[in-house]
Amino acid sequence: MTDTTIKRSLTGVPALSAQGLAKTYGTGATARTVLGNISFDVYDRETVCIVGPSGAGKTTLLRCLAGLMPSTAGTVFIGDDKVVGPPSRMAVVFQDYSRSLMPWLTVQANVELPLRGRPGISAAQRRERARAALASVGLENSGSQHPWQLSGGMQQRVAIARAVAYEPAVLLMDEPFASVDAQTRSDLEDLTHSIKEKYGMTILLVTHDIEESVYLADRVIVLSGTPTSVSEIVAVDLAHPRDQVATKSTREFADLRAHILGLVRRQQP
Ligand code: ADP
Repeated sequence: MTDTTIKRSLTGVPALSAQGLAKTYGTGATARTVLGNISFDVYDRETVCIVGPSGAGKTTLLRCLAGLMPSTAGTVFIGDDKVVGPPSRMAVVFQDYSRSLMPWLTVQANVELPLRGRPGISAAQRRERARAALASVGLENSGSQHPWQLSGGMQQRVAIARAVAYEPAVLLMDEPFASVDAQTRSDLEDLTHSIKEKYGMTILLVTHDIEESVYLADRVIVLSGTPTSVSEIVAVDLAHPRDQVATKSTREFADLRAHILGLVRRQQP
């Protein structure tokens, strides 16, 4: 792994840390090691994207990080705490919004759901946090509707609002914009920038889309090889705020995209 492209100094206890993660599916003759030896840190208020070709094990990695699946070896930390199951300080946004929202609940109730039973939050605070989160994703007038009355892009906004209202230490996103059209995808990328700015969030986002990873990230982790490991961690020192046209027209953006594409291409069998 080469880390030489990181120009900024990243210090302190990482918000999220993966140390020597490995994952083998199956046992005996059918065993298949998907993840080799994966280590990286994500620091407070960073947006880090993980890219790699389809089948590289990105979803497997995210599920191990989220405590949704045990790894075969290695450790995940949120701050100083070892992850042994789904951590209370983490939220996950999945690609398939239609399966992550409860169709029988209103949009407002969907966003409030993870806050129910959370100690120290009254019903009034829960309502207000959900309302503010819906406003931050541009859905201030949709709280009384049901998810099935909304477009796919709007449903994914509800899923993002639910994660934001929860105020997690780390937000994990698994190919969150892969199921929407190109224009909606751009809108949701910009929304990710704006909620990160507004809430000061730490985000780890998995995508197969190299352009998206450069547009969103402070650093891009490129996965490679069989079994998969980290081939390079690329610093993205593009100015903020980023803009779909202006940022993507810069020489720096094109160079970063080409560099990462080269890394990913080299890994294809
Ligand atoms: P990506 O998200 O990069 O497309 P995945 O993590 O979904 O990759 O899958 C990586 C590899 O692991 C694939 O070859 C897939 O078939 C295999 N895999 C994923 N889940 C399982 C499972 N539950 N059991 C066995 N193999 C699996």
